[in-house]
Amino acid sequence: MILKIDHLGIAVKSIEETVKFYTEALGLQLDHIEEVEDQMVRVAMIPIGESKFELLEPTCPESPIAATIEKRGEGVAHLALTVDNIEEALAQAKAAGCRLIDETPRIGAGGSKIAFIHPKSGYGVLVELCEQHNHI
Ligand code: ZN
Repeated sequence: MILKIDHLGIAVKSIEETVKFYTEALGLQLDHIEEVEDQMVRVAMIPIGESKFELLEPTCPESPIAATIEKRGEGVAHLALTVDNIEEALAQAKAAGCRLIDETPRIGAGGSKIAFIHPKSGYGVLVELCEQHNHI
């Protein structure tokens, strides 16, 4: 079951530069910055209500986010949805004929289990399914 919008992933060249817009211009608070080696990104989490902005900065040219910035420039990279059971959500998307980028979940920021649905199936939106590490 999908519970809410977890976060918006935003591809940026520099977290240090971009974070000022969210904190100084919009008045939001930076929660933390972490590195997700598996995806070759540094991630800044900025809570907004029950959701978050996730700024994604590539740590090397081979990073998928570097490719996204190269192709489309900086901006919204994906929409992430909180699910209570990621294996079930993936099975449902697959049964509905979606093209999955991840057939099985991998570990994302904060230790969450994540999996991506291809933007071809999401009508132009790269959708991330996200099962929180710590259920509330
Ligand atoms: Zn994300």
